[in-house]
Amino acid sequence: MTIVAVTKTHTAEQILPVITAGHRHFGENRVQEAMEKWPALKAQTPDIHLHLIGPLQTNKVREAVALFDVIHTLDRPKLAEKLAAEMQSQDRHLPCFAQVNTGRESQKAGLDPAEVDAFVRACRETWNLNLQGLMCIPPVDDEPALHFAFLRELAKRSGLAQLSMGMSDDFEMAVTFGATHVRVGSAIFGARG
Ligand SMILES: *Cc1c(COP(=O)(O)O)cnc(C)c1O
Repeated sequence: MTIVAVTKTHTAEQILPVITAGHRHFGENRVQEAMEKWPALKAQTPDIHLHLIGPLQTNKVREAVALFDVIHTLDRPKLAEKLAAEMQSQDRHLPCFAQVNTGRESQKAGLDPAEVDAFVRACRETWNLNLQGLMCIPPVDDEPALHFAFLRELAKRSGLAQLSMGMSDDFEMAVTFGATHVRVGSAIFGARG
C-alpha cells in the first residue's frame, strides 16, 4: 500500500523533513504549484515519485508528463489522447489512474461510472496508455464505504489492480476496501492555511 503524502499549499521547508524521514511518494493537485517547488526537491532526491491528484488541463499536459511520475486524474478521451501523444514524444510512459465520479456529482471531475468500461478499453486499445487503476473522491456527505466498494467493483470488472482512494478522514476505511494508494494531506502536514 502506497501512502501519497499530499503537499498542496505546503512549502519545500515543510516537505523536506518528510523526505529526510525516508518517504518517497508525494501528491500535488495543481501542475503550476508543483512546478514551483518539486523540480528542485526531485533534483536532490531522484527516487521521489510525484503523483498528480488534481485536474489536468490539456494545455498543461507537456509540463505534467515531464514533472510527474503517476497521473491519478485521467478523466476524459481528449485528455487521454493528449497524454498518450505526449508520453510517446517524451518516452515517459507514466502509470495512470482513471478518475471516476462515483457520486455522479455535476461539479466534480471524473468519468460517469457507466462510461468506465468503454474508457478503460479505449485506454488500452486506442491510446496504449499504462492504465493501472481507478481513483475516486467520494461526495462529502455520503458514506465513503459505499463509494470505495463501488470503485473496487468497477476496477475488478475491468481487470485493474490498483485503487487510489481514501484521504485523511477516511483512509483507514479505504484500506479495508482494498485501496492500494491513499492520498493523505492534513493528517501528515496539519491543516492547510
Ligand atoms: C487535497 C487532496 C487530498 C488530501 O486531502 P486531506 O483531507 O488533506 O488528506 C486527497 N486527494 C485529493 C484529490 C486532494 O485534492
